[in-house]
Amino acid sequence: MRMSKQIHRGASAPRWAMRRRLACAFVLALAVCALAIVPTQFAVTQEPATTAATRNAALVAATDEVLKETSALRELPIVRPVQSSTQSRAEIERAVVKNLDEDTTVADMHAAEVTLKKLGMAPPDFQYRALMIRLLTEQVAGYYEPKTRQFHLADWIDVEGQKAVMAHELTHALQDQHFDLRRFEHWPKGESDSEIAAHALIEGDATLAMVMYISSSPMRALTFLKSIGKMGVDTKELDQAPRVIRESLLFPYQEGLNWTRAVYKAGGWSGVSQAFKALPQSTEQIMHPEKYLSHEAPVKITLPDFTGLLSEGSRTKPGSNPAKGSTTLTTWKRIASDVNGEFGYYLLLDQFLKSPTESHRAAAGWAGDRYVVYESSNGRISFISATAWDTTNDAREFYEAFAKRINLRYPGAQATHPVEPPDGLAGFASWKTDEGAAALSWSGSRVFIIEGCPEGVNPDRLFAAMKE
Ligand SMILES: [Zn+2]
Repeated sequence: MRMSKQIHRGASAPRWAMRRRLACAFVLALAVCALAIVPTQFAVTQEPATTAATRNAALVAATDEVLKETSALRELPIVRPVQSSTQSRAEIERAVVKNLDEDTTVADMHAAEVTLKKLGMAPPDFQYRALMIRLLTEQVAGYYEPKTRQFHLADWIDVEGQKAVMAHELTHALQDQHFDLRRFEHWPKGESDSEIAAHALIEGDATLAMVMYISSSPMRALTFLKSIGKMGVDTKELDQAPRVIRESLLFPYQEGLNWTRAVYKAGGWSGVSQAFKALPQSTEQIMHPEKYLSHEAPVKITLPDFTGLLSEGSRTKPGSNPAKGSTTLTTWKRIASDVNGEFGYYLLLDQFLKSPTESHRAAAGWAGDRYVVYESSNGRISFISATAWDTTNDAREFYEAFAKRINLRYPGAQATHPVEPPDGLAGFASWKTDEGAAALSWSGSRVFIIEGCPEGVNPDRLFAAMKE
C-alpha cells in the first residue's frame, strides 16, 4: 500500500495498486523538518512585487549559479546546461494531472481505492484520484522533468527562497545526466516495494544534497525558512489524508534521507552514486541501511490463481442450484498483485495497533511477500497474501501482531478458531466478519493471510494452494 510521486519524475506508488511516478514534487513540509534546528521565529518582510519577466530572468541566473554549486557539492560534473522556467499553480496542476493519468490506469486507481478501504486504511468515501491531485498540487514547489530535461518551479515563491528547492531539483538533473532517470519511469508492474526503494535513493540523494546546500551558510538557512514562512506552506490536504497515503508520500524523502546519510557515511558521494548501479531492492533495505550494505536480497514469492477456488463458494452455497441459470454465480477477478514490503506491513499493522514500536518490531525480519486482491461480480473484495520471514521467531511475531490487527480491524468479528498460544512452529486462526472470513496461517518462516474470504470457501484450501 503506498502511493505517491515526487519531485523528479518518478515516485513510489501506493502499493495497493497505485503505479505511478509523478513529477518529483518537492515536499515542503519535509524541508521544514529537515531544518528544524534553525530558529523558526523571525520577522517576515514584504518584498516588492516583481514582474514575470524579471522573475524568469532572475531564475535563469540563479539556476546557473545553483547548478554549479550543487555539482561541486554532489561531486557530479555538469554534462549539459539545464533549462528552467517558472510555472503557475494552474500549470503545475495540469502537469500533475497529466502525469497521474499517464501513469495510472482507471483500473489501477479503482484497485487502490477498494483495497485501501477493504483493509481499513481509508474511509468509505475515499476517492483516490481526487485526493492525489489535491495533495500533489498542494505539495509541489517545483519538479524536474526527465522527458524534457527541464525543471520548473512554482511562481509563488521568491527566487532567493527557491534556491534550496533548486538545489534539490538540480540534483535530479545531475542524476539524470549521469544515471538516466527515465529508466525509472516504467518500473515493472507489481514490484512496488523495489520501486519505492529506488525512489528513496533518488529523493534521499537530492534531499541530502539540498540539506548540505542550505547548511553551508547560516544566512542561506535563514533565507530559506523565511521564504517558507512567507509562503505559508499549506499542509491541510497532507494532514487530512489517510495515514497510509501521507506516510507513503513522505517515505522517499524521510527514510530516503536517513538511508542516503548512512550510505554517504560508509562510502561518500561515490557510494551514493554506486547505488544507482546496485539499486536498493526493498523498503527493508531502506529502513535498515545495513541490510543494503550487506546485500540482503528479498525472497521472491509467487502466488497461484485463486479465481476458481474463490468462485467455488457461490456454487456450493446451500440452496443454490448451479444447474439453474449460471448467471446467479458470483465470479471473481484479480485486480491487483504486488509486494507490500516491510514498510507496507508496518503501515497495515500500525493503522490498528497504533504502537509504532510494536508494529516496527513485528514487521522487522521481513524477507519477502506477495499479495493479490480479487473483486467479485457483486463488489466483495478479497485480500490474500503470502509472507516470508528471516526466522520462525520473526514469523511468529508477525502472526501474533497481525491477529491483533484483525481483531481491531473487524470489531464485531467472531473468532471461529482462536489464535491460542502457538505451539512453536505453526499456528492457525480464523474469524467470521460481516465482510467474509479472515484467516491467518503460520508455518515455519511463512505467514499466510486472507481477509474477505467468501462464504462457502474454506480458507484452508486457499492456504493449501499457497503452500504447494
Ligand atoms: Zn525530488
